[in-house]
Amino acid sequence: METKVIRIDHDQIDVNLIKEAANLIKEGKIVAFPTETVYGLGANGLNEKAVKGLFEAKGRPQDNPLILHISSIDQLKTLVLEVPDIAYECINRYWPGPLTMIFKKSEIVPYVITGGLETVAIRMPNNKIALELISQAGVPLAGPSANLSGRPSPTNALHVINDLSGKIDMIIDGGETGVGLESTVLDLTGEAPMILRPGGVTFENLKEFIPDILQDLGTIIVDDSIIPKSPGQKYTHYAPKADMYVFTGSKDNVIKNILNQAEEYISQGKKVGIMATIETRSMYDKGTVLTVGSRKDMTTIAANLFKVLRMFDDEKVDVILAEGVETDHIGSAIMNRMMKASGGKLINV
Ligand code: AMP
Ligand code: MG
Repeated sequence: METKVIRIDHDQIDVNLIKEAANLIKEGKIVAFPTETVYGLGANGLNEKAVKGLFEAKGRPQDNPLILHISSIDQLKTLVLEVPDIAYECINRYWPGPLTMIFKKSEIVPYVITGGLETVAIRMPNNKIALELISQAGVPLAGPSANLSGRPSPTNALHVINDLSGKIDMIIDGGETGVGLESTVLDLTGEAPMILRPGGVTFENLKEFIPDILQDLGTIIVDDSIIPKSPGQKYTHYAPKADMYVFTGSKDNVIKNILNQAEEYISQGKKVGIMATIETRSMYDKGTVLTVGSRKDMTTIAANLFKVLRMFDDEKVDVILAEGVETDHIGSAIMNRMMKASGGKLINV
């Protein structure tokens, strides 16, 4: 299959190009599109066959449910049995934005979307291209991240091209995404609202108006005895090709240990990648050192994390030694992704 790549300027949208993409969606085809979090892989979320094509293109396990992307609150009402008051509160504060909410599904949502569950995950993305595409297509878009299953999520069109060219119908290049990590997933169907995946909207943000909010333990540690409440969280994710280790502890200890380990691996003839921050970059004098962002503004680390993991792949390193970050605010989402990317290889020093 030939994959058509079209470029759309987020600040000056060419409506005719969006129409072309929306027509493909209406025909049951697959179109990758930009959002403010990562690139999504879009298909008509109410068309079972189209959604099956999505799973196939990504190589995604069928029991890992998808998020429906919508462009209006009217659309939300058709997809769920009820919208609880707390959801309206979240919508007022964070939609459009990087917050996915889980509701009880209505009849029109096919089980292929929900992995057989009676609940459905829904979000309104904060990206004009995405919103226009959904609205022109006239249907909710199933939109998993537009990477091959298991790989780091794509934050620009080139990442999507590298993973999925030849497997999907169209890629809309809308430039770099902003947040850089997937949306926060908040379950509103249990006794108390619970975060199933940390993301751009943080625990602290939500705690401000949801005092009884909980966070699923599976988002914080990798442990075979803990089965995460969100089916997708049990799979290996975001993984670079190299073996990755994440170091946490005091700044000096982290640097010392990464340097020691780097020396050890290099003496074994391995190519070592070091993921540093602006504040620590100058401390590393061996290996392939990439700077992920600044500890003074952790949103920069979130924005660059997946890109840097893919750059290590391009450099063909055998091992990645990464500095961890504090787990408050957006740090919780960053460490969740680093934990998954490393298969839980966290080293506290
Ligand atoms: P992705 O499509 O890669 O952004 O992943 C979507 C995430 O949302 C996965 O971790 C899914 O497990 C989670 N998710 C989607 N629908 C549900 C649901 N009904 N219940 C729990 N988690 C869900
Ligand atoms: Mg994904």
